[in-house]
Amino acid sequence: MTKANRCKGSKNSSNRKGKVRLSASETLLLTSFIASLSSYNVNSVTIEGNRVTYKLESRTASATCPHCGTPSVHLFGFTDKTLTALPGGSCHVRVMVRQHRYRCMCEGCKARTFTEPSEAFALYGRRTHTCDDLICACCLKMSSVSCSELVGTMGIEACPNTCTSSLFRRLGSPPSRSGVKVVGIDDFAKRKGHSYGTVIVDQEAGVPLELVDSRDMAEVAARLLLYPDLEEVTRDRGKCYIAAIRELNRLIAEQNAATGGKRPFVRDIADKFHVMENLSDAGYPDLQKEFAAFIREAAEAGAAANRKQAEWEKVTAMHAKEGMKIGDIAKATGMSSKKVRKYTQASQRDYMPKSQHYLLRNAEHITSAVHDLRGFDAKGIVRMVPNGKANAGLLRELSEFLGAKLEKMKEKAVKSGCSHEAVKKECAELWQTIFKHGHEVKSEVVDSFCQKEHVAVARYLCSTFQGILAGEISMPLHRWIDTAVAIGNKSIASFALGVRKDYDAINNAITSKWNNGRLEGTVCKIKCIKRIMYGRASLRLLGIKCTKGVHLNI
Ligand SMILES: [Zn+2]
Repeated sequence: MTKANRCKGSKNSSNRKGKVRLSASETLLLTSFIASLSSYNVNSVTIEGNRVTYKLESRTASATCPHCGTPSVHLFGFTDKTLTALPGGSCHVRVMVRQHRYRCMCEGCKARTFTEPSEAFALYGRRTHTCDDLICACCLKMSSVSCSELVGTMGIEACPNTCTSSLFRRLGSPPSRSGVKVVGIDDFAKRKGHSYGTVIVDQEAGVPLELVDSRDMAEVAARLLLYPDLEEVTRDRGKCYIAAIRELNRLIAEQNAATGGKRPFVRDIADKFHVMENLSDAGYPDLQKEFAAFIREAAEAGAAANRKQAEWEKVTAMHAKEGMKIGDIAKATGMSSKKVRKYTQASQRDYMPKSQHYLLRNAEHITSAVHDLRGFDAKGIVRMVPNGKANAGLLRELSEFLGAKLEKMKEKAVKSGCSHEAVKKECAELWQTIFKHGHEVKSEVVDSFCQKEHVAVARYLCSTFQGILAGEISMPLHRWIDTAVAIGNKSIASFALGVRKDYDAINNAITSKWNNGRLEGTVCKIKCIKRIMYGRASLRLLGIKCTKGVHLNI
């Protein structure tokens, strides 16, 4: 010890030997990696370029044997080791430590001598704990190759495998499962379409707990059995999870019978969103197809019964045929007299030009011909109108003009009624109308579509189910199932039978406040991490990255 305390001194400030008095910044640097600095003497500080090397020596007089716990004061020798520590400023830091080795005086102990343990680094560690913390924090957020390169720039040598194994060593322990009362389970793709795993999330704390390497019901049930305080499990409607929870309750019953314990059964809760999604998948596609055709028909009908045209026809009939005055027509129809006058004038200008006396004279014949032929067929009109042959060119011209104009008007109206945006909007409204309890219909097209009998039945069943699920209607679920089986179409009835099979879980969902929303978010996070790792992370590594956070004590 005298050797350690002897101060040789040195004129070279970059290479000080002996017991060194450190500057404030150097002490700060040192305390950042040696938590228990008080038990070490600093013998020297060497600075070469951007590399700082500290030589430390222990100044303990006794230590406790890590094997048997017996204290010892019998110094046996020294253990020298070199550690990498966190960088300080722009300097890479090495620490050469001389630890004391003591003789264990306990006769029964397997060790004759032992090296005193340290709080700042592991017995066979090559880096300080804080240094390992940094590696873990980096490796948790990026791939091990990137992590290795990043810490390499800080003077910490760690190959990618070291980074990963450091992560496993520090954070690889299973989660604490006791005290967890509500969990959610969902599947995620390890390889999409090939293999899947299961993620378990603590619903109350809102954190993912662990990943299971399968969605097989036996494995999932066995894992859930490890949670001693589990009361409720939320899940989607996958068959494997329905079976898994059934299996879990069977295992609990078996365990209770074997041990005489009274562990309660787990309450199974189906996710409301998925239940509604199933109903929507069952009842909506056919309706949507039918609705698309309905919108087109409605738009075409609307084009034929163009409001202005209808008004014009009405006014013309009253004015020309019945000889009514403009004022009387305005009174009878509720239109302004200005508007009526406009219509009467428009009739002459647009449809019967004054110059065409022949057409004007034979207007009635032409109209009846168009009516009989149901269209502007020029040849037919020529045959049916007096002196038609002599005026064939004129009639053809008129027929083509009116025919084209009418088609154009129709097309325009159909287009505006069937545009992508309009159809999308109408479909969204239809979905709301059918699947939302208490929704007021805002669209005329949807309203008239819902007048159809089978649509009205589907609407009643779906919106009632949504109301029951949301707790807005107090009808018992089994009564809804009976009704749906009796009056619903094939797909809704088959959905109802599915609900009957999974009755308890869906019934529990009505009163439960839990859902699988958090699970969906967690699955997205898993996907993201998988992509950062180029999909090569083992399930264990993926599990640590998804569920653990590292606390940096730097
Ligand atoms: Zn011992």
